[in-house]
Amino acid sequence: MPPPKRGDKAAEGQPEEKVKPKKEKKSQKDRPKSKKKHTKVQVWKLYTAKGDLLERKNQNCPRCGPGTFLAAYQNRKYCGKCGWAIVQQK
Ligand SMILES: [Zn+2]
Repeated sequence: MPPPKRGDKAAEGQPEEKVKPKKEKKSQKDRPKSKKKHTKVQVWKLYTAKGDLLERKNQNCPRCGPGTFLAAYQNRKYCGKCGWAIVQQK
């Protein structure tokens, strides 16, 4: 009887291991990139001029005080500075 080949486990008398197909991890390069480009905050859109006075469209942050506006989303208002958020229920 010829000696069992190296790497041939069945021939060596060991039970054959089940080989699980490894999940291939996609590298960062292969992942689809976000198509949305970052745009700078357009501060002038937060104000409207009423005569000589400026009117602020957005609410101020209660934690940060005046000068920091809350971003208005569909169902919530959020402060990007401190993370304060209010969720408006329908
Ligand atoms: Zn804040």
